This record gives sequence, C-alpha cells and structure tokens, in this order.
Amino acid sequence: MKTIPIQPAPPGDDEEIVVSLYAAQEKIQSRSVTGVFARWRWFFVWATQLVFYGLAWLPWNGRQAVLFDLEARRFYLFDLILYPQDFIYLTGLLVISALALFLFTAVAGRLWCGFTCPQTVYTEIFMWIERRVEGDRSARLRLDAAPMSAAKFGKRALKHGLWGALSLWTGFTFVGYFTPIRELAGLVASLSLGPWQTFWILFYGLATYGNAGFLREQVCKYMCPYARFQ
Ligand code: SF4
Repeated sequence: MKTIPIQPAPPGDDEEIVVSLYAAQEKIQSRSVTGVFARWRWFFVWATQLVFYGLAWLPWNGRQAVLFDLEARRFYLFDLILYPQDFIYLTGLLVISALALFLFTAVAGRLWCGFTCPQTVYTEIFMWIERRVEGDRSARLRLDAAPMSAAKFGKRALKHGLWGALSLWTGFTFVGYFTPIRELAGLVASLSLGPWQTFWILFYGLATYGNAGFLREQVCKYMCPYARFQ
C-alpha cells in the first residue's frame, strides 16, 4: 500500500483553510415503487392515520376516549384515568417500547423506519399528493427545469395548498388530544383560539409541512437519534 506523507505547510503560510464536512443536498425526485413492501407501507399509512385522525373524535362515557388534560392533570385512556403519580407506568411502558424497538430491529430490520415512523408515513402521503398534482418522476423533473409559467405556478400552488391544509389538520388533531377536539373545532370556527392552542397547531403543522415536504430523508440522516443507534 502506498502511503502519502503529510507535507509540512510552507514557512510563513499561515492561511486558515476551512473544510466543510456538509454536502449540500440535491433535490431528489423519487420514482414510484410498487410491490409487496410498498403495499405493506400503504397499509400502515392507512392504519396509523385512521387511528391518529380518528381516535381524537371517539366519544367514551360522555367524554373524549383519549385525552391528555394537562390543566386537570388527568390522562384519559378509554376507561383508564391516569394521574401524575402514575407516571411510573408510562415510564415503564416507554422503556419496554424502546427495548422492543431494538429487538424487532435486530431480528427483522428497520420495520419502524420503513412502515410506521411518522416521518416515513407523512413523507409517503406528501409524495402521493405531489405525484397526483405534478405527475410522475419524469414529469416532475421537466416541471422543475421549466421556466415559471401560469401552469407551473398553478401546480405548485395546488401542491403547497394541499400540503398546507393537511399539515394544519395534523396540527389541529395533535392539539385535539390535549384540548377536547370538539371544543377546539368550535374555537377554530369562532376564531377564538387561545395563544397556546394557536402556537401548537401552527408549530406542529409547520413541522409536518417542513419535514415531509422538504427535509424528508435529511431528517433521518442528520436529525433522528434512532438513525444514530442504527
Ligand atoms: S431514521 Fe428516524 S426519522 Fe428516519 S424513518 Fe427511521 S426513525 Fe424515522
């Protein structure tokens, strides 16, 4: 093996050189995939989102079935009511979930990443919207390269409008697990949301829009702690 000696800097050359270790990301226009794993992924997209968007609306004995009422310090899970002193159970559940995650990953691969991680699920939904509005991969590449026109502007506006609506609905649903969702819907309709509710709806909505619409695989590469474990 040939070794290259390190050259000493020329005398008097004390110029500082900055080397960037970050490679700017190029926009990826992915191809559609079909097959058994893609079908499983869509199954989990439907299953997880039906639970997420639907469960908040489920009534149970005169109240919301799942509600984390921070003000009253009570967490309602169907018939179960948890108080702050019961947090030990939640801690135990989280520890078991984390260990199960590692076990399943070791045995069967990255099932969580591939099928149920919110980042995967929302990226899949956002890409589906993108395909419906802008076409398949080659059509999207042509659209990217084309100069701005009324047609291009219309497609972009429709795509971002749909992404934005879905993101806001996601933020609204998230907050609906902490404020009774029917009450929250009334507050939205009468434009009388409180500052914290407004903040969290927008924050969660923006996070969904940014992560699933733009950052996508960069979240896995640079931000996710689970990817580091892998
Ligand atoms: S690496 Fe992290 S963000 Fe990406 S899919 Fe896996 S768990 Fe989700």
